[in-house]
Amino acid sequence: LRSILKDPSLLPTKAYVGGEWIEAEGGKTFAVTNPARGDVIAHVPDLSRTDAARAIEVADRARHEWAARTGKERAAVLRKLFDLMMANQDDLAAILTAEMGKPLAEAKGEIAYGAAYVEWFAEEAKRIYGETIPGHLRDKRITVIKQPVGVACSITPWNFPNAMMTRKMAPALAAGCGFVARPAAETPLSAVAVAVLAERAGLPAGVFSVITSKRASEIGKEFCENRRVRKLTFTGSTEVGRILLRQAADNVLKCSMELGGNAPFIVFDDADLDAAVAGAMVSKFRNNGQTCVCANRIYVQAGVYDAFAEKLAVAVKKLKVGDGLVAGTEAGPLINEDAVAKVEEHIADVLAGGGKIVTGGKRHELGGTFYEPTVLTGVTDDMKVATEETFGPVAPLFRFETEEEVIAHANNTIFGLASYFYARDIGRITRVQEALEYGMVGVNTGLISTEVAPFGGVKQSGLGREGSHHGIEDYLEMKYICLSV
Ligand code: ADP
Repeated sequence: LRSILKDPSLLPTKAYVGGEWIEAEGGKTFAVTNPARGDVIAHVPDLSRTDAARAIEVADRARHEWAARTGKERAAVLRKLFDLMMANQDDLAAILTAEMGKPLAEAKGEIAYGAAYVEWFAEEAKRIYGETIPGHLRDKRITVIKQPVGVACSITPWNFPNAMMTRKMAPALAAGCGFVARPAAETPLSAVAVAVLAERAGLPAGVFSVITSKRASEIGKEFCENRRVRKLTFTGSTEVGRILLRQAADNVLKCSMELGGNAPFIVFDDADLDAAVAGAMVSKFRNNGQTCVCANRIYVQAGVYDAFAEKLAVAVKKLKVGDGLVAGTEAGPLINEDAVAKVEEHIADVLAGGGKIVTGGKRHELGGTFYEPTVLTGVTDDMKVATEETFGPVAPLFRFETEEEVIAHANNTIFGLASYFYARDIGRITRVQEALEYGMVGVNTGLISTEVAPFGGVKQSGLGREGSHHGIEDYLEMKYICLSV
């Protein structure tokens, strides 16, 4: 990997804690592998809970000077980080693809997306406005100011190794918080590379640390139990989110949670079918189905069901599966064997219930964790894919008759992250967008993620929003000041 980087210094095999590049006690490391080839690409320090505690302590000291700077001063550092990320986009993308597997073109897209949060929140650093409220008595003046919450800690997953961290780090730093990140053990290199650039951008030592560690629950406990921590921000499964929320209760820790989804993707009779197919391809097969906003259940109205299935299968068959580092690849490997097992389990369950494979349905001839992009028909609500996130390249097509029926099915889940539908009738569009119990709705589009909009879920898909002018609020406290004159 080092040999294909223009700047190999973006790949230090150390962790960044308290402004220093460190190793773990006793030189303990863990291996990072390339899921496309199965080879080890780096060893990084396996830090302990004590290291996390130190990062928190230093962040708690360093944050005061950082917060005392003007918004414009913090913005300048973040803007520099954005510029450096974009200047090193190719290298950051290569590192990302090597550790995670997504095609290079998607990895470049993710770096631009991750950097966009840094740019956006650099701008927002200058706009942390308070308010004045007319007093309740003649001699009273009421003002509300916004202040950083304090030290914020993040736990992030492997599917977007860059952007999931930057969309937490950027608002936290813009607000004036200290920030300690623990990236997934599968993909620590992308996070460490951002730390190299953050240091170069002039972020003061200690304000930002990256804890590389295989010991997820140990680090998670430190984040929840250390009294210096004021904010926990997590992206991952609902299952782990619940554990963290329970742990966070003792310190009444503020939490932002971006959890699992089970996105419905609805195609109505009046939809532009080709556009719906294109939208389904993006929504379902981006990152090989490994995003929390990927379409998980595709509901197609009876009148267009067969035509849609046919067109979708044609598009899916064209997907070029392969090593993400090879030009032209459109679908990489799955992250690991467990991911393949889940895909196989969901497909077997559909077949057992009478569903059919239109295309795909087995491991790819490339071997490893490569899997054929798959389309299934005859899928019904009693099957596993209806209630569980598949997180793989499987498009299950459910048939429905009426708008009322499909809304009931679409909402019949504990999740409420992203949803999508294709229709033309304006009355229907208005009714359906309002009826879907989701934090995000894509209407006639399969791609909704952007730094300018509030990303987040309702129900058991999470708490809080990331991105947009709302995103920084998760890292700010309101202080009400009552002045007697
Ligand atoms: P995914 O399926 O995306 O890996 P997880 O929720 O399992 O979703 O993991 C998301 C992140 O949470 C990863 O970085 C993982 O290492 C971490 N994690 C898993 N279990 C725990 C835990 N008990 N405490 C803290 N972090 C955890």
